[in-house]
Amino acid sequence: MVVLLGIYYLAPFMRWDRGPHAPDQAILIDMTSSRAYFFFIDIWPQEIYYLTGILILAAIALFLATSLFGRVWCGYACPQTVWTDLFVWVERIVQGDRAKRQKLYKAAWSIEKLWKLGLTHFLWLVIGLLTGGAWVFYFNDAPTLLEQIIHFDVPWSVMGWIIALTGSTYVMAGFAREQVCTYMCPYARFQSAMFDKDTLIIGYDAERGEARGKHKKGDSWEGRGHCVDCTACVQVCPTGIDIRDGLQMECIACGLCIDACNDVMHKLELPADLIRYATTSSQDTRKTGTALPFKIWRPRTFYYAAIIAVVGAAILYGLLNRSLAEVHVLHDRNPLFVQLSDGSVRNGYDIRILNKTLEDKTYNLEVSGLNGLEMRVQGAGNLQAGALPVFAGSIGHFRVFLSAPKPGETRANIVFTLTDDQGVQYENYESVFVSGMP
Ligand code: SF4
Ligand code: SF4
Repeated sequence: MVVLLGIYYLAPFMRWDRGPHAPDQAILIDMTSSRAYFFFIDIWPQEIYYLTGILILAAIALFLATSLFGRVWCGYACPQTVWTDLFVWVERIVQGDRAKRQKLYKAAWSIEKLWKLGLTHFLWLVIGLLTGGAWVFYFNDAPTLLEQIIHFDVPWSVMGWIIALTGSTYVMAGFAREQVCTYMCPYARFQSAMFDKDTLIIGYDAERGEARGKHKKGDSWEGRGHCVDCTACVQVCPTGIDIRDGLQMECIACGLCIDACNDVMHKLELPADLIRYATTSSQDTRKTGTALPFKIWRPRTFYYAAIIAVVGAAILYGLLNRSLAEVHVLHDRNPLFVQLSDGSVRNGYDIRILNKTLEDKTYNLEVSGLNGLEMRVQGAGNLQAGALPVFAGSIGHFRVFLSAPKPGETRANIVFTLTDDQGVQYENYESVFVSGMP
């Protein structure tokens, strides 16, 4: 929890110098400019496929981790688990253990009950604000926003999100808890597809634990199991299951039942790990007296790793070879063409030039495919097709007219070509020149 919360809070405050024309926040989703920044990568809306690739990569990495170590993501890294752990910890500190909490809930209303429940919900809201609410730092310049928060000067658009995220965290971690894992999260439903007999799962050693039963100090352990049926493992389980009944879909592999049972074993002066991480193979072979080592290298380790390598390489190749400028052309629909008094024909186009670099640039737009084409750029000043200015990291909009002596065909294919001021050529854009109705 400390490690994950540390990363969560520090990440938006990390800086990454992108020059004077771009934000210097290393990880930022900038809704105003529709851009996502991740260290040296900046993703434009047109490049959403990179995000798709990254999500595929994350999903396969999750499958690999699950096939090896069971639901480690659910138990240790999922925000829902981390937040819920904090909420449960507060509940335990303020209201006491499970027995005391149940007594408190059943008791008649009193100052003490009001105080304890009020304090719990107040602290939950504070944690909700500090955890869920802190997501907004990833969508705004974090130091500026922090200063605004300190001076109670947060814009209402951001405040709305802070309130919504705080409220949803309060409800999800305070009330819904394991229902989120059991009913809302689809991952719980298909995780078993990634399990095999060599996956680490949380297991109860029935060989050693059964026959279970109450035990008094001084009683012999002869002819009985080590489980004293104290239900400590059930009481701490955030999803409310009894792991002694075997692996269940609800188990998020948080390991709390292991800690609880080990405490009991320690008090009883018995060996630890009556509940422990184990593979089904090792549980089976343990019955015959042989302990199997944990097998990392299995067929599914290789094929998940292979998919990760292929998708990762494809994303890397795409990023290293991405074009730093793009041109998009939209032919006028109405009118499709205009016949001029000298008999020539004119077509209008909306041109967008994307400058993905961190420097202001001027671009040269050329057109080919039809003899006698003349290009004129409409706009303030003396805009020339050979020097179209576009600011760093922005989109330049230009209104362009092409005219040509009336060609023989009513529709000719033409190609717009974009080069920058250093002569680097970017992609071509195919369009049409219309000179009559078909
Ligand atoms: S059974 Fe144990 S590991 Fe599974 S969710 Fe409950 S406490 Fe966590
Ligand atoms: S905590 Fe251990 S001893 Fe107690 S009921 Fe669970 S398995 Fe048995």
